[in-house]
Amino acid sequence: MTENIIRIRNVTKVFQMGSESIHAVDNVSLNIHKEEVCCLFGKSGSGKSTLLNLIAGLEKPTEGRILFHNKHIERMNEDQLADFRRQYVGFVFQSYHLLPTLTALENVTLPLIFKGVSVKERNEQAMEMLEAVGLADRANHKPFEMSGGQQQRVSIARAFVNRPPVVFADEPTGNLDTKTTYEMMDLITGMAQKNHQTLVIVTHDQELAEYADRIVVLQDGKIEKIQKRIREKKENVYE
Ligand code: ADP
Ligand code: MG
Repeated sequence: MTENIIRIRNVTKVFQMGSESIHAVDNVSLNIHKEEVCCLFGKSGSGKSTLLNLIAGLEKPTEGRILFHNKHIERMNEDQLADFRRQYVGFVFQSYHLLPTLTALENVTLPLIFKGVSVKERNEQAMEMLEAVGLADRANHKPFEMSGGQQQRVSIARAFVNRPPVVFADEPTGNLDTKTTYEMMDLITGMAQKNHQTLVIVTHDQELAEYADRIVVLQDGKIEKIQKRIREKKENVYE
């Protein structure tokens, strides 16, 4: 039986722009299954990032409920949200969001600092992650000394170092060339699968969506349809 790690119920997010109300997410209900790769797919402006940010506890819904297991994300205050994110969530952003004054290794250790892990253990675990993403030899480099692909590898190492149950990625390959894009997608989905993590990826690229077990197609803030991959056939066939 499918276990749901996140349950989204009748969630709406309205942005007020002067006199105009923008329904970025419009009455969406969706279950995210434990250990699936779920893709939020749609054109620019369809509400993908807003929905991702709501699920990840980065933004508050205007209406509706979002449950992580039995925790109501929409009822949390800012401190509780920050704790929730540190404990349960990893992020990969399009623009990497690395701290520019820190080395690759230091960037990767950040989530562990918040968790209270000792310095020695932090460095060991972060180094292990840098090895896993193929960047052990760049541990002491700062972001500006690395290529876009390398920076994204560091940010992937940072997202996964904590072993969070859920990793969110918003257009993680948006700034990368085609070859690096597929390397990053293989890396992210491979790590999630190996560690039994749930992955929610935002993309507007059909080919990247095909890495997913389910593609949730968004249009104008609403779910247009959900496509499911038939895994048994070992090919990317969607019904
Ligand atoms: P996508 O990620 O699919 O491109 P977004 O979730 O970023 O879409 O945006 C959905 C809609 O909400 C768009 O019309 C966008 O302009 C609007 N929107 C997103 N964020 C804000 C904001 N902070 N303030 C006002 N409007 C916003
Ligand atoms: Mg977006």
